[in-house]
Amino acid sequence: MPEWFNEGLRFRCTRCSNCCRHESGYVFLSKEDIRRLAAGLDLSEEEFLEKYTRVVEPAGARRISLKEQKNFDCIFWQDGHCSVYPWRPVQCRTYPFWDALVGSQEDWEREKKSCPGIGEGRLHTAEEIRNRLTARRKSPPVDAEDVQLPASHGRPQT
Ligand code: SF4
Repeated sequence: MPEWFNEGLRFRCTRCSNCCRHESGYVFLSKEDIRRLAAGLDLSEEEFLEKYTRVVEPAGARRISLKEQKNFDCIFWQDGHCSVYPWRPVQCRTYPFWDALVGSQEDWEREKKSCPGIGEGRLHTAEEIRNRLTARRKSPPVDAEDVQLPASHGRPQT
């Protein structure tokens, strides 16, 4: 079925780091993200969860999100770059081609206010966009009940 982005959409990461820093937000993790990040950091999944994640409750769901630093930068934002780039979560890999951002032209235009790379650079074909949407749908945020959480996680953060 043709979508409004059938002619493709332009996007180029300008390395502004807005999506990794400055504001509080959630980087939800899927089961696959947890496996890949733990392996990349040479940790057990439990060690990884304890050191780098928190339980959050957006809209009543219990999810696992990356921790933030005191200034709201992502826990993995170090020395001006993502320190886990090869293993970064699917949420980061697929930005800005998320259902919520390409659902309509209005959604896409609104996101431009946060991301200077939207509408710039290489034209991503509709097929590439659909592939990213599929990648994210295939690796959804894990429910916190479905992972072995360390006792230290305590009360969820909202
Ligand atoms: S994991 Fe890396 S790409 Fe994702 S928000 Fe954190 S610093 Fe940015």
